[in-house]
Amino acid sequence: MSAYLNVLKELPEHVQLVAVSKTRTPEEILAVYNEGHRIFGENKALELRDKAEQLPKDIEWHFIGHLQRNKVKYIVPSVSLIHSIDSGRLLEEVNRRAAANGKIIDVLFQIHIAKESAKFGFSEIELREFLEQDIAEKFPNIRPVGLMGMATHTEDDDLIRSEFHGLNELFTELIDSGKFRTSTPILSMGMSIDRGIAIDEGSNMVRIGTSIFGPRQL
Ligand SMILES: *Cc1c(COP(=O)(O)O)cnc(C)c1O
Repeated sequence: MSAYLNVLKELPEHVQLVAVSKTRTPEEILAVYNEGHRIFGENKALELRDKAEQLPKDIEWHFIGHLQRNKVKYIVPSVSLIHSIDSGRLLEEVNRRAAANGKIIDVLFQIHIAKESAKFGFSEIELREFLEQDIAEKFPNIRPVGLMGMATHTEDDDLIRSEFHGLNELFTELIDSGKFRTSTPILSMGMSIDRGIAIDEGSNMVRIGTSIFGPRQL
């Protein structure tokens, strides 16, 4: 059985799989596509744009990396979900470009849950404060549909668990206060290495590269 099917068969039905295809060739992506997969994640704007041009049009492209505002224009025509909104200014630019393209773009807010300072995202406090404004009125061309977070890169499973647990608590709070414009909110957490803990802690979308495609050449 392929690595892809092995990953897929162990996922609970309510958990969606984003196959993280950054650095992979169109041929490698097509092999997984031909097994029936349609959701792929990229973390570089130009790479996403170029792959979207070359590969089948029914692929759902997710943007999962840090997004610079001057690169938003490259992904807006083909992206279906941006996981990594980490500032109000970025959201503003996505809204502006989406409007210019006549689109409404689904986004997740990225929350900084890890102990490492290198990771991006809103703090919980910053996001709560940001969401006090009327997002639907101010940014009519984006639709907030959930949260994303990356745990600390560590062997300490208890730390990973507590970070994911905290993110799920914020997620539930924001659902209860009506902050997401969808009936099926998304909690994107878990990669190859920590997906088991993430799913235990309430993830309903995992982003997996290595377990599907093998180790990346850096
Ligand atoms: C690369 C990446 C992943 C996938 O990582 P793997 O360890 O290859 O599964 C998930 N999320 C983000 C944001 C990434 O950049």
